Amino acid sequence: MGSRQVTSWQDKNITVAGLGVSGISAARALAGLGAVVTVVDNGDGDAHRARAAELEAQGITVRLGRLADGGHAGEVLPEGTELVVTSPGWKPDSPLFEAAAEAGVDVVGDVEIAWLLREVGQERRAAAGEPLRAPAPWLAITGTNGKTTTTQMLASILKAAGLRTAAVGNIGTPIIDVVLGEQEYDVLAVELSSYQLHWAPSLRVHSAAVLNLAPDHLDWHGSMQAYAADKGRIYEGNTVACVYNVADPATENLVVEADVEEGCRAIGFTLGAPGPSMLGVVDGILVDRAFVENRQKNAQELAEVADVNPPAPHNIANALAAAALARAFGVEPRAVRDGLRDFRPDAHRVAYVDEVASVTYIDDSKATNTHAAEASLAAFEPVVWIAGGLAKGATFDDLVQNAAKRLRGAVLIGADRALIADALARHAPEVPVVDLDRTDTGAMLAAVREAAALAEPGDTVLLAPACASMDMFANYNKRGDAFADAVRELAAENAADTA
Ligand code: ADP
Repeated sequence: MGSRQVTSWQDKNITVAGLGVSGISAARALAGLGAVVTVVDNGDGDAHRARAAELEAQGITVRLGRLADGGHAGEVLPEGTELVVTSPGWKPDSPLFEAAAEAGVDVVGDVEIAWLLREVGQERRAAAGEPLRAPAPWLAITGTNGKTTTTQMLASILKAAGLRTAAVGNIGTPIIDVVLGEQEYDVLAVELSSYQLHWAPSLRVHSAAVLNLAPDHLDWHGSMQAYAADKGRIYEGNTVACVYNVADPATENLVVEADVEEGCRAIGFTLGAPGPSMLGVVDGILVDRAFVENRQKNAQELAEVADVNPPAPHNIANALAAAALARAFGVEPRAVRDGLRDFRPDAHRVAYVDEVASVTYIDDSKATNTHAAEASLAAFEPVVWIAGGLAKGATFDDLVQNAAKRLRGAVLIGADRALIADALARHAPEVPVVDLDRTDTGAMLAAVREAAALAEPGDTVLLAPACASMDMFANYNKRGDAFADAVRELAAENAADTA
């Protein structure tokens, strides 16, 4: 299927799985190209019906909820379907896909469709007066953690180089809309989740990076091996560079296993001094020993560690990966520095909140798995750790073992806090732990007060839950907001006390 070229969408019978943002974008785009589109979804609440009405007005069929024969709309393959386009959340073993496999019908995702529609986008813009050019190359990023940050850093660097670009894929405007939209781009910074890679068989990008690989979403992929294989798909057919993490040999293995274009190079990034064909750090300077003349002897200075925002170790790794992709695309060193300086991380990612009584409060609510929490804990010492929530099947032994010596104390909240308490008791018995035994939203203020009581001047209080938030909050944003509100309240109490 990898080399399949779709030449015409006219009258093609396409079923779109999922009435979410990416499903709506795919349905609209394909219907606009003359395809006969049916969207299926098991939901049929008010929001679904409103969206369905809009699509139906454009001639798209929508099947929601329970069908007349008792089946669920999202599980039954509509008669005559020639291609299924899935949304990222749908599991590969969903009944719809099983039915498609039985019927010999391909299943692909929004990224695959966007990839196949790049030429169409160029032709449309040419018809509107732009010169007809080759589609914008894609620089792609995946990994268990750091995808969004690195993709945005890359876009910032490309912009600083004067290129027309956007951070897309798993973020921002749906990628099909970007590819078909009016705006012409020189290059795209594309974040890809393992789900999207799973369903994008013909993707062949200019250069790609896998940032790291730790167990996550295994319920979706079935096994670590299957998860790694999907992540590794990002390197298939790369033309210029496969960027890997020297500290994470699993990422380098994926490069070794990939079938790339002749001349495509493997480029490592490391927080240590770089060998040839690597980017790394020397004396507080980010340096490039890959895209320089005579890399055996020479290194090119790119930026200072202080140019990276925030300069936590895991984020310096992200900056190096972004820099490697930009350099693979021919970007000058000065633009790497300027782009990193301009970059502002999204909210709730190791975000500084405030300093109260000489203690710094940091919100990393986005640390929803143990790998992410371990990375952010490594950036602070001594640290009072606020953790807990939904563990999603994770174990906490490695995390606690590696963080133990930095911990001033820990405050636990949320449904699965006992798992973390057990790991702390096993590997860090001397660390004071406050187990809040609460899952109500107000628990965050109590947690911040307890953390403040454990902290000493100069310490950091870090919210890095290592868990999902849905037991207590609508999402990680709300959890981070609750933390920031609690810190503000603490600051007000403190000011009143000292007044
Ligand atoms: P993703 O898009 O992969 O979820 P984000 O850039 O949104 O990644 O960062 C999510 C969280 O992962 C951050 O809040 C931070 O705790 C952690 N993180 C970011 N970069 C890395 C990295 N390179 N290694 C480990 N953890 C990281």
